[in-house]
Amino acid sequence: MKKDITIIGAGLVGSLLSIYLAKRGHKVSIYERREDMRNVELSAGRSINLALSDRGFLALEKVGLADDIRKICIPMHGRLIHNLHGPSAFQPYGKEGQFINSVSRATLNMKLMDLAEQKGVKIFFNQKCNEIDWNTNTITFELENKDTNPIQFELLFGSDGAFAASRLQHQLQHPKFDYNQYYIDCGYKELTIPPTASGEFAMEVNALHIWPRKDYMLIALPNLDKTFTCTLFFPFEGELSFEKINTEEKVKHFFAENFPDAVPLMPDYVNEFFTNPTSSLVTVKCFPWIRDDKFALIGDAAHAIVPFFGQGMNCGFEDCRILDELIDENGDDWEIILEKYQWLRKPDGDAIADLAINNFIEMRDKTADPKFLLQKKIEARLHEKFPYQWIPAYSQVTFSPQIRYSEALKRGQKQEAIMQEVMNIPGIEVVWDTEEIERIIMNKAIKI
Ligand SMILES: Cc1cc2nc3c(=O)[nH]c(=O)nc-3n(C[C@H](O)[C@H](O)[C@H](O)COP(=O)(O)OP(=O)(O)OC[C@H]3O[C@@H](n4cnc5c(N)ncnc54)[C@H](O)[C@@H]3O)c2cc1C
Repeated sequence: MKKDITIIGAGLVGSLLSIYLAKRGHKVSIYERREDMRNVELSAGRSINLALSDRGFLALEKVGLADDIRKICIPMHGRLIHNLHGPSAFQPYGKEGQFINSVSRATLNMKLMDLAEQKGVKIFFNQKCNEIDWNTNTITFELENKDTNPIQFELLFGSDGAFAASRLQHQLQHPKFDYNQYYIDCGYKELTIPPTASGEFAMEVNALHIWPRKDYMLIALPNLDKTFTCTLFFPFEGELSFEKINTEEKVKHFFAENFPDAVPLMPDYVNEFFTNPTSSLVTVKCFPWIRDDKFALIGDAAHAIVPFFGQGMNCGFEDCRILDELIDENGDDWEIILEKYQWLRKPDGDAIADLAINNFIEMRDKTADPKFLLQKKIEARLHEKFPYQWIPAYSQVTFSPQIRYSEALKRGQKQEAIMQEVMNIPGIEVVWDTEEIERIIMNKAIKI
């Protein structure tokens, strides 16, 4: 039976979800708080590009969009580590031929909206969800002129992001809604590396650049216009923090000391530092995600995570794919579909939230540590030799969409425990690539 489906939020996940549902013949309408981004100049300084990886691509592939989206991506084959002392080092992601993709958030979002409209989805802009009455199934939107627009819904999805109004309305009228929100002590600010005078990329294009400096880090992802978007992840408070580095002189001094090779590539970084916003990073875990057969949270609205595994959008896209598989299995029974959806996806949302926090520490503290790099080298070697028995945690999450996030978290923790033992073997720096070490690890791995 075809449904009248309402989606709140035309972000990345709401737009993709609408395509999945419209393809099944449902009548789909999206209500979006902002104006149509296809008609406005984009504001600088807010999460300009994202890493799209295999989970996201699998979800796009299922609705025939992967080829379209591939055209607007730049492959990144590994991390390029900019050490403070000594030369830069390239660390490949996964195995030969595996890579993640840099994509512009706005271009991807606009493309998904175009494709949704081509499938018959109606998108209404400047409609801010303010209130939901669960007894009468009425949702009220506020318009630009502050008028209200109440509409009836049959089946509703809340894809209105990390600070979702739909989630709040669900929570306020629920007898036992669990809610956990956690801010890390780091914020972020975006800066730009323009093309060189001859119009070329100023650094290696097919890499994710990282300047790891323990308590903070700078990263850079390439854009199709030959710029790089850099993101400085930096404490809000403390001796070196957004609070304390607050004059032009201090900013220049801090950058010269910490990112000396990046400074000549960023002619406008001081101005950008003071004019671009400083944003916070939040993790949200909540439950339940659904109401009977009539409402579900999806994407960041259900599980906001910090960006250090590059998985927030990928996870939201995977939500859409899994929901679609459940529709295949359960036909029109939306009560069962939504129930199964939340029981399947909640552990995975929680797991990727934890993995993302762990990766924050890994990227910031460890990517420059020789012992950590040796561990990664041992794991990469094992993965080459035993591709199914030993999959590094990063590869499970990024390149193995058949492995659930919750499974990747569990297996990753067990593998990490094995590796910690192995890294304590005296002289591991010398014997790391011997058959003896391989045997020790794989004997333990069999028991996982
Ligand atoms: C700095 C940073 C870097 C990131 N990097 C990556 C990455 O590399 N890879 C990755 O996979 N993920 C990344 N993410 C996460 C990714 O941005 C999110 O997971 C993704 O945007 C979630 O999509 P969404 O559609 O659920 O939410 P959003 O993209 O937030 O979209 C929500 C939409 O709902 C609308 N809306 C909000 N409130 C209302 C309302 N009351 N009424 C109507 N509409 C409303 C908003 O205007 C918006 O259009 C990053 C996030 C950040 C902050």
